[in-house]
Amino acid sequence: MIRGHFNVSKFLLSLFLNVFLLISCKSIAVESITNNTFDAFIKKAETLKDANPGEAFTFLDHQSASISSLTIENQLIFYRVLSEIYVEQAQYQKSNTVATVALKLARGLSSPSITSSELLFARGFALESLGDYKAAREDYLNGLEIADSLNNKKIVAIGLVNIGALDYLMEKFDRSLIMFNDALAIAQKIQDDELLGYIYAEMGILYSHLNQEEKSLAHYKTAYEFYLKAGKIYYAYNTLRNIAANHSINERFDEAIPLYSQIIENADKISNDELMASVYSGMAWGQVKKEDSDPEASYQYMLIASQYIEKAEQVDIPIAHALDKGYLFMELGRYQEALENLHIATEYFKDYEDTDQKVVSTISRLNLYYLKAETYFKIEDYEKAYKAQDEFLTFALSLPEKTNIDEIEDIRMRYESEQADLQKKILEKKESLQSLLLSEAQNNVENRQIFIVIFALIALVLAWVLIKIISGQKKLLTASRVDSLTSVTNRRRLIQLGEGFFEQAKEESLLLSLLIIDIDDFKKINDNYGHKVGDQALKKIALLGQNLMRATDVFGRFGGEEFVVLLPNTTEKQALEIAERLRLSVYQYVWPNNRLSKISLSIGVASFDLDKHQEFDELLKEADQLMYKAKHQGKNKVCFNE
Ligand code: GH3
Ligand code: MG
Ligand code: MG
Repeated sequence: MIRGHFNVSKFLLSLFLNVFLLISCKSIAVESITNNTFDAFIKKAETLKDANPGEAFTFLDHQSASISSLTIENQLIFYRVLSEIYVEQAQYQKSNTVATVALKLARGLSSPSITSSELLFARGFALESLGDYKAAREDYLNGLEIADSLNNKKIVAIGLVNIGALDYLMEKFDRSLIMFNDALAIAQKIQDDELLGYIYAEMGILYSHLNQEEKSLAHYKTAYEFYLKAGKIYYAYNTLRNIAANHSINERFDEAIPLYSQIIENADKISNDELMASVYSGMAWGQVKKEDSDPEASYQYMLIASQYIEKAEQVDIPIAHALDKGYLFMELGRYQEALENLHIATEYFKDYEDTDQKVVSTISRLNLYYLKAETYFKIEDYEKAYKAQDEFLTFALSLPEKTNIDEIEDIRMRYESEQADLQKKILEKKESLQSLLLSEAQNNVENRQIFIVIFALIALVLAWVLIKIISGQKKLLTASRVDSLTSVTNRRRLIQLGEGFFEQAKEESLLLSLLIIDIDDFKKINDNYGHKVGDQALKKIALLGQNLMRATDVFGRFGGEEFVVLLPNTTEKQALEIAERLRLSVYQYVWPNNRLSKISLSIGVASFDLDKHQEFDELLKEADQLMYKAKHQGKNKVCFNE
């Protein structure tokens, strides 16, 4: 729901703030700043570590009358600090206003200034927090462009991280990973500890979205070390909060609770309502879920969290908090109070229903329906319970199957980085179970058992303190099995399924046949009509192929203009018939507008034979050789072992 984390541009600022703490406010406040003293003023600020934004704000406010005598550049720095203070206090509207004023002022500069970049990042962060992702992205991109033109590597890296964070918030995890990797490369080159802290902290959040809790934790820990090394205490605490949340997700409450306590003890150094609210919420959850559950303590912590929430401006916080309370009250058996909070959440949901702000995450919505159903069941109001359950299932089943992200696999290859390695085994296990259950559920939407199991599956990775992980996981699942161009099964999945079928055929002496299909002279189609038309043809052929298959057959794209069909329980003769039907259906297809002449296929057909094939790969190879035989014999042909 939140980045759990703040812009590095604010690091620079936090240095200022310490000055204000150490120096008596009053004695300084009477001296007005001049251009001569401004640098010293900044420099002093930069020698100090942590901040108290509240006091710093009062101090800056006293100075605001005298800043008009400063150069524009210095005024910009002043405003940057001010807008960043607001961000640190989670007062995003005000931050937005101040940064906007300053950016107008910046137009008077004769040449671009890096401060403009930082102001754009501060405003972008404010806008992001207020839910306006589009405007935030624009600011980040503009800030990045300026930093790039000034060749300021650190600020460029910060811009990349900001954009990457926005990407994961919008569930574009691949792009996010690319941004973070690029930023990391810069940070490692310039060896900047606070920047490294920032990048690892954000990567921790990304991996948490990807349901890779272990990696996420490792990144947070690295971030924590870098922050400490850089003396960024405030950010270190922020990261500690994320570590505690990670422990909570994995039900390690004994580890989470001491961390939350540590943060609470140091609340005076933090002075950020949003952060403190989430810490108290986390503590409340830990208290009720830990082994020797303490519901009363939990309730008290939740009350404190609510007080912090009242002041927080971040747009998704009230929704998350209402759901948090709903959960907690349900755990505590206080069902009326649970329902009151769920009602509040529902109202918020309505507010955002017609906007394109992605404030209400998929998982929040699922949580709301789930909680409603559960609570109504508990109070035996079955009619309402079934209604909520119905909403849950309708929504769960409507979730898009298709991914909008490019192939994760491509990124993996690009970085060859184990950081991008997704825990496929776990995901696939969940996936197969889930798809099974979803298809069952379609037949019987009112089956409570299924409802509960589906939710349990979704809830596997769901934690009350970080409630939006599954939507990312779902996209990854899809991405890892479907070809992005044609939407048929992709190569990796084909091999996986093929190996499964093969082992089964071997063990249970079952039939298994396989086709390899290669489009003839496809290069010419691209050359003559362009790549786009080539792509359209690939899509159409995939569609024709898939439509010809039976439910148990698997038609997939093996790569380029090559397809593979897995045909379990199919004799060679049947496989030949299917291949021939496919060849004809493509060959006889009349392409729209007569733009394309006929397209033909060369197909190799192989059937499993225990004497010939020990492994799936060997069956594949045989089919491939037969496909080439068809090519040699003049194409537009089906070949098999006679
Ligand atoms: P042959 O009959 O011997 O198979 O000839 P061919 O032209 O089909 O085979 P070749 O392997 O020489 O070329 C395959 C072409 O397929 C080259 C490549 O540009 C094109 N291709 C591969 N993937 C895609 C894709 O995703 N989209 C488009 N439009 N073209 C693709
Ligand atoms: Mg080919
Ligand atoms: Mg070809």
